[in-house]
Amino acid sequence: TKDVNGNLKTDMSGQRGKWEGDKVDPAEASLLNKFIRRALVSSRHEVEVLQRDPTSPLFSVKTFEELRLKPELLKGVYNMGFNRPSMIQEKALPMMLAQPPQNLIAQSQSGTGKTAAFSLAMLSHVNPAHKWTQTLCIAPTYELALQIGQVIEQMGKFCPDIKLAYGIRGSKVERGRLLQEHIVVGTPGTILDWCNKFKVIEAKKITMFVLDEADVMIATQGHRDQSIRIHRQLTKDCQMLFFSATFEEAVWRFAKMIVPEPNIIRLRREEETLDTIKQFYVLCKSKEDKFSILCNLYGSMTVAQAMIFCHTREMASWLSANLTKEGHSVALLSGELTVMQRASIIERFRDGKEKVLVTTNVCSRGIDVEQVSLVVNFDLPVDMGGNADNDTYLHRIGRTGRFGRRGFAINMVDSEYGMDVIRQIEMHFDRRIPKLDTLNVEEIE
Ligand code: ADP
Repeated sequence: TKDVNGNLKTDMSGQRGKWEGDKVDPAEASLLNKFIRRALVSSRHEVEVLQRDPTSPLFSVKTFEELRLKPELLKGVYNMGFNRPSMIQEKALPMMLAQPPQNLIAQSQSGTGKTAAFSLAMLSHVNPAHKWTQTLCIAPTYELALQIGQVIEQMGKFCPDIKLAYGIRGSKVERGRLLQEHIVVGTPGTILDWCNKFKVIEAKKITMFVLDEADVMIATQGHRDQSIRIHRQLTKDCQMLFFSATFEEAVWRFAKMIVPEPNIIRLRREEETLDTIKQFYVLCKSKEDKFSILCNLYGSMTVAQAMIFCHTREMASWLSANLTKEGHSVALLSGELTVMQRASIIERFRDGKEKVLVTTNVCSRGIDVEQVSLVVNFDLPVDMGGNADNDTYLHRIGRTGRFGRRGFAINMVDSEYGMDVIRQIEMHFDRRIPKLDTLNVEEIE
């Protein structure tokens, strides 16, 4: 039996753990997204709203003024460079700020302004004269909680009376002494301890509860259960706000447990498409052969930037070392790097400091591929069972049709098995992937 790379399967034994296809940690991916984000993500879809009471008027705001925020808070919003509410904020903010309070389930991909929206809602909600915790926000990890806290601090910069505490590992509290901070952001485990074991938060006094990144939260069983245990201690009058980037069935079930009588807001993700991509495959004999074909191709094409995907870390570092030897400026991105390091590599690449990015599966999504005109599958994307991984294929080479920039995708095939994967991909997307004659590269330009 041969594996993906045409090597005997036995060659791969002992290396299984290094395959990076299954390594994408959702919390890390989300954090990476936050680090590399520069602006709002928009969508051509409409925001869908499902009101709990369909007869009540639906408010939507086009400006932040319409929200009648405290002037210090409005100043904080503008100071962040926000001119007008994002698509999701137009609908979500009036609901979150409504009197009497309304519950909300909101789903939209990351980067659409959810965090900014609920940060604003929490800041607007608290009464600084009351020296106790009034709003609680939970997030799946230490780092994500910190990120949210930073948004609140920045937005609340001109509201010095409003205090924030971080309920995360390492934060010290005095047992039995109630916190005076109005807003607490943290992870489920610490927050649960703070409510029950240390008794520094009185759950009954919480009037706004925010659960962020629900899809990431439920990926860890313990977090899901802790969130539910926190939620159980809240009163019926507590306003529940629930956010998720995706909405599969399990998230939906979780949402229903946390949010009674919800209003629902959804913004569909802009779908990726293969429409503007010319796809090819090339036949190769070995990895060395793949490498020299790749060099020839790259040398004879005029491409702005290229991304090259490998199956394992080993392959990615071998390839990047060899490309570097050939004089290319190469960035290497793989799973052993911290999220910070990955973010800085992606930023450099986006700024054009390197022309070629070699990567494993770790972050096929984090990068805005519009500027990348060539994507190479040095190894084809396959799942654990060895079948074509169509989703990953689409994420690697697809783009959101909006800009419609043309691009090329080249798949390197070095075995019968690889050909089989190509055929599966062709079938799945109902698009032929022609063979590229490497002696005649003009055909692709
Ligand atoms: P999400 O929580 O959905 O991932 P964020 O609230 O983090 O989205 O917003 C994504 C990015 O857009 C952040 O850099 C944020 O500062 C910025 N942003 C949010 N709302 C606005 C707005 N109304 N106008 C301009 N930028 C915004």
